[in-house]
Amino acid sequence: MSLLQVAQLKVEYASPIGTFKAVDGVSFEIARGEMFGLAGESGCGKSTTAFAICRLLQSPARLAGGSVAFDGQELTSLSDAAFQPYRWSRMSVVLQSAMNNLNPVMRIGAQLTDVILSHEPRTSPKDALERAKSLLEMVELSAACIDRYPHELSGGMRQRVVIAMALALKPDLVIMDEPTTALDVLTQKAIVSRITELRRQMGFAVLFITHDLPLMLEVCDRIGIMYAGQMVETGSAEQLLRQARHPYTQGLLRSFPSLRGPKLRIAGIPGSPPDLSVPQSGCRFRSRCPHASEICAIAAPPELADERGMVACHLYREAVIGDEPHFAIAR
Ligand code: SF4
Ligand code: MG
Repeated sequence: MSLLQVAQLKVEYASPIGTFKAVDGVSFEIARGEMFGLAGESGCGKSTTAFAICRLLQSPARLAGGSVAFDGQELTSLSDAAFQPYRWSRMSVVLQSAMNNLNPVMRIGAQLTDVILSHEPRTSPKDALERAKSLLEMVELSAACIDRYPHELSGGMRQRVVIAMALALKPDLVIMDEPTTALDVLTQKAIVSRITELRRQMGFAVLFITHDLPLMLEVCDRIGIMYAGQMVETGSAEQLLRQARHPYTQGLLRSFPSLRGPKLRIAGIPGSPPDLSVPQSGCRFRSRCPHASEICAIAAPPELADERGMVACHLYREAVIGDEPHFAIAR
């Protein structure tokens, strides 16, 4: 059984001009210890999906349907009190701006011990402090940071503190939404490589969101590509790099300079995503898709899955070879 199973997730925002369907039927799974990336242009619903999973949606956003099962437990139907034991202990969150996660008037040590003591009240304050120090060392910060206030640390150091906090209670899943975006490139690389090392040592799974697709392809096991509130393709990083199937994924990959192999031209995808406050029909990518045909305007493409992943595009149709489902190019 997967650690996290998200099925047909829907999130809506009410606005004066109508209901904005930010996430519209998104499904994916994350296995134990797996690093799963969510990619797509800004506004495609990546962060909203992550927020819905860890119940951080704020009004006017609301969960409009679907299911989030964590280790077999449906989370969407739990009361806030029943969800409380999951927060930090089983599932933690690292957001882009460390300042939003840290209390500016509390020393780093007190913030770390707070997390430990509030969830494990039988821990002695002395043990909690020792644990806080080793957590800081784990993210390559000196134990001396324990006496500092957040404003006395650099952005990169603060983000390391937030990661230490997120790992303090040894969660099974860490949700990271653009965890290093505000930082310089070298600091980003150092932090992400530390996260991947710790993941190997500690075995937690990661839901990783970044707009840096090359980085995602480098560090994630599997990746889901979102477009206009929907999942259009999933697959291993290797699979997407070698043989992305969805025209949007192919375009997205061409928008970045390639990491390995021949240098590809950096080409953006012309056009922009549809307005999600008006009802959608057909394939949402069709106005930008070089392969669009009549059917793409009429019918939403079904999600087809095989051992390589999922793709939602009319270019493919189901075919059964032996007992295994395979895709054939439809045209
Ligand atoms: Fe392009 Fe049609 Fe596939 Fe959509 S369904 S990505 S428009 S070919
Ligand atoms: Mg975002």
